[in-house]
Amino acid sequence: MSQEKVFRIAVLPGDGIGPEVIAEAVRTLKTVERELDGIAFKLQEYSVGAGTYLKCGNPLPPETLEACRQQDAILLGAMGLPSVRWPNGLEMAPQVDLREQLDLYCGLRPFHLYQAQLSPLKGMERGRIDFLIVRESTEGLFSGRLRPMELDAAEARDHMVISRSGSERLFRSAFRQAMGRRRRLTLVDKANILPSMAYFRGIFREISREFPEVETEALYVDAASLHLIERPADFDVLVTENMFGDILSDLAAGLVGGMGMAPSADIGDDYAVFQPAHGSAPDIAGKGLANPLATLLSTAMMLDWLGHPETRRAAAVVRTAVTEVLAAPRNRTADLGGRLTTAEMGGLVAEAAARMLSSGDGNRPAD
Ligand code: ATP
Repeated sequence: MSQEKVFRIAVLPGDGIGPEVIAEAVRTLKTVERELDGIAFKLQEYSVGAGTYLKCGNPLPPETLEACRQQDAILLGAMGLPSVRWPNGLEMAPQVDLREQLDLYCGLRPFHLYQAQLSPLKGMERGRIDFLIVRESTEGLFSGRLRPMELDAAEARDHMVISRSGSERLFRSAFRQAMGRRRRLTLVDKANILPSMAYFRGIFREISREFPEVETEALYVDAASLHLIERPADFDVLVTENMFGDILSDLAAGLVGGMGMAPSADIGDDYAVFQPAHGSAPDIAGKGLANPLATLLSTAMMLDWLGHPETRRAAAVVRTAVTEVLAAPRNRTADLGGRLTTAEMGGLVAEAAARMLSSGDGNRPAD
């Protein structure tokens, strides 16, 4: 018998709805684990976020960060609360600190329309919207975020940092993603106005020569916003800087059912964090109203990334389970116009995934 492979996962529930959606990810992981062959997940929970700051004065204690470095992957809920701020008035964002500290430069945000009715766009079919935003996550317009803010100063400035090395590694990752998909890559920038963005575009052109199989286009961010609404089905992979990626991700989530349907992964060369693209949503926290599907789909991204045939099989099954559960119109949380609680939706997906794995439906190889 082959020896059991143990994957160590740091679980960071965080603030607001974070613990509620993470509970469903943990349930799904434990449920599928029972059906997988020779695989175990060792989940270790750590405290991070605004709540942790209130307890110990640091939203991301150094010992937690160090412990995260020792794990195979990090699964995160949501962090930050509007009522808990730094003395300069800014919200704390330990999830952004984590990206910077672990050098997670490649933010992957897939948008897939699981059910036509979830899109506000008319005439959409299931699966027609299926694109990936690759967001640079360590520099760009977020670079100045930790600088002090003086309300009585005459002006405030932020700065955009676009480095050659940061852009080259980002673009290579985006091209590789496109190679594994429909081989189309759209650069989103503002090269007509900002020198930093013209530089970004120049480097994109250079790297594109390494990937002649991939068809490319470049769009200004304002035009990209329009085209994402008018012709979302034309996009395969989009790559952009940090802030533009942040904004376009929310727009894209709106096309496929909202923030509760938007998973994400932040990948570096050594570490990776998987979390829903949404924040801590304090308005609905503690009420069982949060949609856990973004977190479950992020968990599927983690299972894929772990790269073992059994974890990849589990990833495919979780996605199929989400598709199957959503096929019944009654299976909707409040954000999707239904009545299911977070735990009810999570339970349905875990149950469907376990059933598929035990019946052999989940045995086809995940491509
Ligand atoms: P951040 O800046 O941290 O990304 P945000 O201010 O953009 O956060 P979110 O927390 O992402 O806000 O959510 C915006 C709104 O979308 C929430 O107030 C909530 O009503 C809704 N929302 C977000 N996530 C979910 C979810 N998983 N299920 C249901 N509704 C959600």
